[in-house]
Amino acid sequence: MENEELPRAITVKKMENFSKWYDQAIAAAGLIDKRYNVKGMFVWLNYGLETMKIIKDTWDGLFKKSNIKEMYFPLIIPMKYAQQNSSWFEGFKSEAFWVKTMDENNASHILRPTGEPAMYPMFALWIRTYRDLPLRIYETVSSFRYETKMTRPIIRDREITFWYEIHTAHQTKEEADKEIEEAVRINNIIWNKLSIPVLKVEKPKWECFPGAVGAIEYYSIMPDGRVLENGSCNHLGQAYAKKFNIKFRDKDNKEKFVWQTCTGNGARYLVAVISVHGDDKGLVLPPEIAPVQAVITTINVKGEKNKVMKKAEEISEQLEKSGIRVYVDADEKTPGEKFFEWEIKGVPLRIEVGPKDIESKNYFVFRRDENIKISMSEKNIVPECIRLLTEIQKNLLKKAEKFYDEKITEAADRKQLKNIIEQKKIAKVPWCESEECWNKIKEFEEGIELFGADLKKHSGKCIACGKPSAKKGYVAKTY
Ligand SMILES: [Zn+2]
Repeated sequence: MENEELPRAITVKKMENFSKWYDQAIAAAGLIDKRYNVKGMFVWLNYGLETMKIIKDTWDGLFKKSNIKEMYFPLIIPMKYAQQNSSWFEGFKSEAFWVKTMDENNASHILRPTGEPAMYPMFALWIRTYRDLPLRIYETVSSFRYETKMTRPIIRDREITFWYEIHTAHQTKEEADKEIEEAVRINNIIWNKLSIPVLKVEKPKWECFPGAVGAIEYYSIMPDGRVLENGSCNHLGQAYAKKFNIKFRDKDNKEKFVWQTCTGNGARYLVAVISVHGDDKGLVLPPEIAPVQAVITTINVKGEKNKVMKKAEEISEQLEKSGIRVYVDADEKTPGEKFFEWEIKGVPLRIEVGPKDIESKNYFVFRRDENIKISMSEKNIVPECIRLLTEIQKNLLKKAEKFYDEKITEAADRKQLKNIIEQKKIAKVPWCESEECWNKIKEFEEGIELFGADLKKHSGKCIACGKPSAKKGYVAKTY
């Protein structure tokens, strides 16, 4: 693995061989290097890190505005706390990294697969009376899971990087309900900045943490017709409060257990961006999260280098002043080489500056979302670039919406379902909300799952049992 050359170009079509396209795109764009010598772990290269940090800044800003406080908890969890909620422990113990210390024979700690056993013993110390509530905190850290399935960078890793978890505690169930609405509202804003019309589904109780009230989960649709779980908002009820003894003295002087929620996601936001917006040339980044929103490429002609450089810097300064993230690429490469590189990286706008352009006071600006060149006069560059960035952001959402619409198809019976899955699409089927039919539908085709219900009410007949149904479920192959 470690001797393998990193792909520098994309040689396959995204819609024909998505898997290979993805591996080539993330490497050639300089996002990550997967040749790190631990399976399921990779190196974030500078461009990937810069992009991910902008997405992280987005959630940091939104959480701050919502008054959710950032904290940091250690990555190591003592076994005692890991075992405190036995259903949590049973769910994670086989994929936990066990930590051995020098002075003990047995593993006494684990690396955190999720935050609950790190945070909730502290919640029990911090929460005393109703005045300590609500408690609303989050952290962004790495989580560790010893995945036994095939790993794939950013999609399924053993070190899950840039993972945020919001954990909240409340006096009443209703307050926790409201917190879920707030988490959904914040996620809507994040998804909008990514120009992704993500699929939002309800999880039935048996798919949630034991004792939970319910969950909203997000799924992004991939070009190969599979879906990728992409974040969740969980109404935990009082199950954890009881396991970790998180109680408060209420106004009536009675001791009560808190109600809790948790919401999490992370680098998979970027996976949705890469896979939905990308094209055969490489990434296409929405301006909101592009580390470079406009690149200025110089055309180097002997004897005119200084003049070209001066003009490039001048335009760069003007764009920067109006808040655009700009980079001047004055490298000694051919224009073709530079274009190729910045197109793989998915930079929204490219401005070409050469002696001829300076003379004519007209410049070519390349739009990555449509792969077209537009000519504009020097005095219009700043306002036009601002306008184009807004337009690209909207255009990407529109294109993604079209892709989502085309990928989701209604199925009324098993035969239609089979057809849809064979066409690498997602089926929307009437479902009676019973666990029995939930499991039955999984058996209809190999590798498929009913992964959640549409939030809206519907009327139809359950695809599995034929009884009247008020909900529709989404069925697809999942990652
Ligand atoms: Zn049914």
